[in-house]
Amino acid sequence: MSGARVSGGGMPATRRLLVVLGDQLDLQAACFDDADPQYDGVWMAEVAEESTHVWSSKPRIALFLAAMRHHRDALRRAGWAVDYRQLDDEGNRGTLAAELREAIKRLRPEALVLTAPGDWRVLESIKAVAAETGLPLDIREDRHFFSSVREFAAHAKGRKQLRLEYWYRELRQRHGILMADGQPVGGQWNFDADNRESFGKDGPPPIPPPARFEPDALTREVLRLVGERFALHPGSLASFAWPVTRAQALQSLARFIDERLPHFGQWQDALWTGEVWLFHSHLAAALNLKLLTAREVVLAAQDAYEKGKAPLSSVEGFIRQILGWREYVRGIYWMHMPQYLERNALGATRPLPAFFWDAKTDMACLRDALELTLAHGYAHHIQRLMVTGLYALLLGVDPKAVHGWYLSVYVDAVEWVELPNTLGMSQFADGGLMASKPYAASGKYLQRMGNHCKGCRYDPAQATGDRACPYTTLYWDFLLRHEEALAKNPRMVMQVKNLKRLDEGRREAIRAQARKHAALVGGADEQG
Ligand SMILES: Cc1cc2nc3c(=O)[nH]c(=O)nc-3n(C[C@H](O)[C@H](O)[C@H](O)COP(=O)(O)OP(=O)(O)OC[C@H]3O[C@@H](n4cnc5c(N)ncnc54)[C@H](O)[C@@H]3O)c2cc1C
Ligand code: SF4
Repeated sequence: MSGARVSGGGMPATRRLLVVLGDQLDLQAACFDDADPQYDGVWMAEVAEESTHVWSSKPRIALFLAAMRHHRDALRRAGWAVDYRQLDDEGNRGTLAAELREAIKRLRPEALVLTAPGDWRVLESIKAVAAETGLPLDIREDRHFFSSVREFAAHAKGRKQLRLEYWYRELRQRHGILMADGQPVGGQWNFDADNRESFGKDGPPPIPPPARFEPDALTREVLRLVGERFALHPGSLASFAWPVTRAQALQSLARFIDERLPHFGQWQDALWTGEVWLFHSHLAAALNLKLLTAREVVLAAQDAYEKGKAPLSSVEGFIRQILGWREYVRGIYWMHMPQYLERNALGATRPLPAFFWDAKTDMACLRDALELTLAHGYAHHIQRLMVTGLYALLLGVDPKAVHGWYLSVYVDAVEWVELPNTLGMSQFADGGLMASKPYAASGKYLQRMGNHCKGCRYDPAQATGDRACPYTTLYWDFLLRHEEALAKNPRMVMQVKNLKRLDEGRREAIRAQARKHAALVGGADEQG
């Protein structure tokens, strides 16, 4: 190993270049394990490619850049030399690969060290640069998860079907989460049955507001840059108050645990007009940027249960999302990329309606979810799965277009978690790899779970006619389009049985109404 030397750039030439990506904002990440600030240097870059390969929303771009710049400063305070490329630096080459190539030329490191990236595309591009420049690339395990990609692959090996429940139980046992003497605490693995309440006609009780962080000077500079440079991108920066540092993320976690976790489970699936935050944690962005680790969030929730501050049903429901779903989708993503992106099991080809980008629709539930999404860069899970996602599924939108939209609009959107959720869970485009059945429902489900139907010009009970709810029409049309395939799915038996009751006249009326609706929303009728 050579000692420190001085390069032509501002940073001392490095023995090893520690590559830190925009969603790896942790001073304890594995790439630092044996690194020495005297000899090794950190490299980070903001590049336009990450904001334009999908039409990324303003809040999403702003969150990444603001958090990255705060992390750069934290690294420097901790004694690291950081070679940092800003988006607005003159001559920014616009892609990670081009910027890294240039940095290697200038800094002449002997090796690259990288914590495993979340996204397949990014890993491939860094591997290509390392190969091209002949540098060794040391890729380290990402410790922000409970499990490794290899452990998931071992779990999946030899199984005909993957199911969240088995993976979740295995992780609970392995990590001793909510376990007592080898058994699940409370005698049950799952409290889903307690966690499906709606708010009823009186609506939600007072909801403790989420932690908000007024943008500091550094964040304001980013907001200005994003507002100018990405003016035409979707979304608004007006309400931007996301945590952009680890200290702020820890505050958000503490507020959630103290104030909203006790009711999280009960109203996990509920919807209410104009209410975006409800009793959810809003921690996905901080988790995905690695300002928090999954372990510390799960342990904080478990601790709240043990101290009697939150009921088991809420705590289990919350832990299931992180220890269960989050680890599960990551495993699926890495097992099946890059082919996963191409999956389209239901042969859906319609374009995404333009109103997804401006919320101009008269469907009250959908308008509300879209407006809130564009205003905050956030929507809770049921808005994503059972309002926006459900509509796209029933209409038959091309899953890649749906994926592009979800990856663009949410501040927590990163491909490894967004793609399996969109393509698999929400659009059933992977044919059942991720979920055991399509999440298909009519307007009556939305009527039950929220209050939007009251203020809507449509009627969720009607599938045809002037007041027919598009969800209800499209639900039946979806079942009709896929009747043969769905009949083979044991979990769809009831739905297909109900479909069988419709005579040919009724079926044709529904098909005609669905065609009319698709034409109205700009979905040319390519799929009958
Ligand atoms: C179509 C679709 C797209 C999605 N895209 C993303 C995405 O880009 N990024 C993302 O982090 N989540 C995504 N999710 C999962 C989930 O909707 C969000 O994690 C959640 O709504 C974020 O809000 P929250 O932090 O308040 O979550 P909470 O409701 O408070 O849940 C707690 C945490 O559990 C985790 N979690 C919950 N559900 C899931 C899930 N299905 N998969 C993985 N982790 C989960 C998240 O880390 C979340 O912060 C998507 C879901 C759907 C249906
Ligand atoms: S009637 Fe249909 S479109 Fe209108 S709010 Fe209810 S479910 Fe949504």
